[in-house]
Amino acid sequence: MFQTLKRCVVLHARLLECGEYQEEKCTLQSCTMSCFCGQMREYRNLSIDRFDGRNLKSKCFFLSHIHEDHTVGLDRPTFLEMLQASSDVFLYCSEVTKLLLLEKPKYSHLEHYVRVLPINVPTEVSIPQQGSCKIGTVEVTLINASHCPGSVMFLFDGTEGICLYTGDFRWDSQQITNIPALHDKNGSVKHIDSLYIDTTFCHESSIYIPSREDSANAVYNLVKEWIGKGPNYVVHFKARTQYGHEHLMKEVSIKTGHKVYVSKEKCEIYKQIPGLEDIFTSDPSETPVHACKGKWPSDSLPWGKPAAELKVMVILPSTMYFTMLRNFDLSHIVIKKGFINRVCYSFHSSYTEVKDLVTYLQPKFVRPNVKPMMDDTIMKVQGRLNEFLKLKNSKTICDSQKPRLLGKLRRSKSTKKRTISENSSDSIDLNFGTPEKVYPPAKKSRIMSEAETDEDEHR
Ligand SMILES: [Zn+2]
Ligand SMILES: [Zn+2]
Repeated sequence: MFQTLKRCVVLHARLLECGEYQEEKCTLQSCTMSCFCGQMREYRNLSIDRFDGRNLKSKCFFLSHIHEDHTVGLDRPTFLEMLQASSDVFLYCSEVTKLLLLEKPKYSHLEHYVRVLPINVPTEVSIPQQGSCKIGTVEVTLINASHCPGSVMFLFDGTEGICLYTGDFRWDSQQITNIPALHDKNGSVKHIDSLYIDTTFCHESSIYIPSREDSANAVYNLVKEWIGKGPNYVVHFKARTQYGHEHLMKEVSIKTGHKVYVSKEKCEIYKQIPGLEDIFTSDPSETPVHACKGKWPSDSLPWGKPAAELKVMVILPSTMYFTMLRNFDLSHIVIKKGFINRVCYSFHSSYTEVKDLVTYLQPKFVRPNVKPMMDDTIMKVQGRLNEFLKLKNSKTICDSQKPRLLGKLRRSKSTKKRTISENSSDSIDLNFGTPEKVYPPAKKSRIMSEAETDEDEHR
């Protein structure tokens, strides 16, 4: 049985001027996209990942990454007019995000207004004050969010306190203990006033999500076996996001020794991104691993051979499909159905990874950026975050000889069968460690429609 998917008939929260949330009908296409209003409570003259409405009154703009739920308003004339009206208002982002942004024709006119900030280097940014010529500043540090190429978190440090906005993120085990920007010189965790966090999968249905390395290994094994059968055997990656699966394809490319075919336009972009420059090719005959667009399964891959001769295996990365399953253990990374392989692959953090980050940082306040699909209001996930704050954890990395394992917590065997309820909470029995045993999937499972399974994926 499957949990019934609720389409966007839900209430989201809107941050009011007074600093409180007001729930409102969601206007976004997908429930799992960012519903962050653009402004933190502490720094009202900055806007992050929203460029419409009252954000147009901001004097400083930040873009965490290129996915479209984070660029709302960025291509509108009103945003350009606002930029043109001031000589000192800019959009700040990472170098790779600037590259990916400006290659899109609808954003190319913003080139003059985009300022690149370095990763991991605290940088002072000027904030033109509203209504006067007074200039303020805030120190901003970009931290790699490991979500998609160019994605970053923003750590703000200034007169209104220290705030961390994660954007979308997926952090691997132990990653947090190695982030200098989040620690003082003596190794203590910085005192963070407010944490604005990606809660896409901060729901009991997603307590454990396989690490990206585990997913990549599973895909590598599939690919190796398939293309090893003969010269006509090809693999087709069907990633529905424009960016976000590069890590997966990179791992497969390195392990198999085959580049990944993408369109010429995309290949040109990847060649400019450090770490990806040698992974992709625009020559379809060079590799049996393709990540080009096209319908499946009947489409012919441009591999210089008649379609009828090709044996195509499809790799379909998804997360939501897996988290919506009941009686299914997420340590099962692949579900096979004929030549289609659904692979559990997430570039958002699991419930446990979010919980670990919150309990490690122990901010004064924590606020969700996303309403999980299975919640009907964002207040539910706010309640979970508040519970995380009550949990104690080491505040210094010096104290912990063994760094905490992010994303390796999972339910004990007695709770393997998923019983999602709105009342379930942290009382779920958790234990540390990677899965010791792989449990078989439920015997009969309905294959969800394509539309249903892609709720977690951004464009
Ligand atoms: Zn997002
Ligand atoms: Zn995203």
